[in-house]
Amino acid sequence: MIEIKNVSKWYGSFQVLTDCSTTVNKGEVVVVCGPSGSGKSTLIKTVNALEPFQKGDITVDGISISDPKTDLPKLRSRVGMVFQHFELFPHLSVTENLTLAQIKVLGRSVDEAKARGLKMLDRVGLMAHKDKFPGQLSGGQQQRVAIARALSMDPIVMLFDEPTSALDPEMVGEVLDVMVLLAKEGMTMMVVTHEMGFARKVSHRVIFMDAGKIVEDCKKEAFFGDTASRSPRAQEFLSKIL
Ligand code: ADP
Ligand code: MG
Repeated sequence: MIEIKNVSKWYGSFQVLTDCSTTVNKGEVVVVCGPSGSGKSTLIKTVNALEPFQKGDITVDGISISDPKTDLPKLRSRVGMVFQHFELFPHLSVTENLTLAQIKVLGRSVDEAKARGLKMLDRVGLMAHKDKFPGQLSGGQQQRVAIARALSMDPIVMLFDEPTSALDPEMVGEVLDVMVLLAKEGMTMMVVTHEMGFARKVSHRVIFMDAGKIVEDCKKEAFFGDTASRSPRAQEFLSKIL
């Protein structure tokens, strides 16, 4: 579903990604972890064509991001993205947040968009809040609306960039629960997170990044298992957060 091939990226003379390659298969949940500044956000944003890169290529469902003929807005509309800060439109109601892109980008009618949006809102357990504004919701609820909004676009993959790290601890669980549900339903997911409980429970693979490189890319069992093959950097990272 996602193929990242030898991607390198520079900000000026600073190389932020070095020869990154990995594949995410349909229905697979891949967790990306690593120290702050290692390039996790940059990597995940390249998949959504939000960050350009200078070398390599990425294909999503067989469509190349770097092919000039590719309709990037269309491709992007099929790749759901959930950020650390929920980035809901504060001046729009929950329902309007859910329907805006469906109407503007996918050309759905208001009724169609509403039906789809509210169905997704129900899935994240927030139907009762459909007429509220983001400011009237808790952080955890806002993040669940952000997930429902992404799902309303019928994404073929979902990308998450530290979706729970800006939340108060008591709200982390409710957002992870929604993500676990999605994973169980077979959604293809790439998730930047330090929630190793989530990684252990639902991921299939774990990628560990350090200084712009993919240092480990292995089955979760191998990553969490007591293997001598784990890189010293991953070992050190895990010992700090577990
Ligand atoms: P992570 O998500 O793993 O914390 P990022 O992908 O956000 O890492 O950043 C990786 C590196 O790239 C960091 O050193 C960061 O300072 C740098 N960086 C990120 N965005 C920019 C930018 N727009 N210009 C220059 N450097 C950047
Ligand atoms: Mg980041």
